[in-house]
Amino acid sequence: MADSNHNNQDGTGQRRSTTTKKKKKKNRGRKRVTIEQIIALNEVYDWAFSPKQTISVSAPVPTDDGFSMTIGDKEKEKKVVFEFHSHSTCSDGYLSPSALVDRAHRKGVKVLALTDHDTMAGVSEALEAAQRVGMRIIPGVEISTMFQHGDKSGSEEPVHILAYYSGCGPSQSDRLEKCLSDIRDGRYHRAKSMLKKLNNLKMPLEWENVVKIAGDGVAPGRVHVARAMVNAGYVENLKEAFDRYLHDDGPAYAKGSEPPTEETVKLIQQTGGVAVLAHPWSLNNHTAIISALKTAGIHAVEVYKNDGKMDVFSNMCDKYELIKLGGSDYHGKNTNGEADLGSVTLPVSTVFKFLSVARPIWSNSIKDTLTNFTNEPTNANLEKMTKFGKFKSRDKSLMDSCLCYWLSKDEITDEIKELSLKCSKILVNKN
Ligand SMILES: [Zn+2]
Ligand SMILES: [Zn+2]
Repeated sequence: MADSNHNNQDGTGQRRSTTTKKKKKKNRGRKRVTIEQIIALNEVYDWAFSPKQTISVSAPVPTDDGFSMTIGDKEKEKKVVFEFHSHSTCSDGYLSPSALVDRAHRKGVKVLALTDHDTMAGVSEALEAAQRVGMRIIPGVEISTMFQHGDKSGSEEPVHILAYYSGCGPSQSDRLEKCLSDIRDGRYHRAKSMLKKLNNLKMPLEWENVVKIAGDGVAPGRVHVARAMVNAGYVENLKEAFDRYLHDDGPAYAKGSEPPTEETVKLIQQTGGVAVLAHPWSLNNHTAIISALKTAGIHAVEVYKNDGKMDVFSNMCDKYELIKLGGSDYHGKNTNGEADLGSVTLPVSTVFKFLSVARPIWSNSIKDTLTNFTNEPTNANLEKMTKFGKFKSRDKSLMDSCLCYWLSKDEITDEIKELSLKCSKILVNKN
């Protein structure tokens, strides 16, 4: 498919003439557009621009990278760029959720997953900002977990799991929220014990200062402690803070209270999310972890970076039949080496596979949420159902706006229509 490697296909080596090269390139471009690719492209495209389409669009035209298509002006080639990994000020990012959306929009991103650490607090602001510019948001979260190696060493290592939810958010959101708030509480304790250790190392820091750096309501993490160390002049930069003191098992490192990785993957599944292993290249023992997570039911692994596909993880995905994903992990640090929003190019086949797995999971999760409300039509359940959108009305039209916000036309099945009608009736009686 689009991500296959066409280098050295003819085995002619490097000394081909320019004319031959050009010819080859042209043929290659033509050869790569397959029926499957056109179907995948159409599907991805329809989903990305549905339901709140604000730009006039003509039929997609597959090209070399499988992603370009003509939008509005036929002369103007645009790409459907997906960004699957980003952070805002709700965790350790530097841009507010709406500023992040604006930047993503400027960078040509059409679908953005906001994946703050251990919180979904920024999702509603991101959704609102995205609606203004006709972008689509995938509500997400990057959950800090701890993997216990089953070997004799009994060692453990931190693992980040990305979770992607429908526009309506997680079903049984209380369960997920409890897990996330426990992790956040653990982070406060952890930050405090890191400060204690730094104090013993003759590098005292003010707690208030670290909390201020983390920002309003944000659980302080290692990076916030590191920033406070830079501000106090104990280290030159964040890298030095991590390399010398805050790295795993470093002299000022402290453990948090992260849940077990496999349990978290199961929780994501049970709450209607798609579970993805984040940046496996930062793991010590990725082989054992990926194999255990496959058994736990993980859906995908990050494989693509802004400098290309990582073969070692790609091969493991082939072995375990996992989807290959990737994103920039943008924090807005404004440093030279930071990959920008939308800079990780994913083949259309990859996004297609992701959506083929995610969409039925999301539809079922929406069904669960609606059923939950019909069984228990409390205001609390109504709040949960509508927490990610700024829905003005609370009458029967609410359900119509919800459905067209959460699902594309073909996903609104008779079963969902029926459930939504039940909800509408309840809402009318409530008012
Ligand atoms: Zn991470
Ligand atoms: Zn991240």
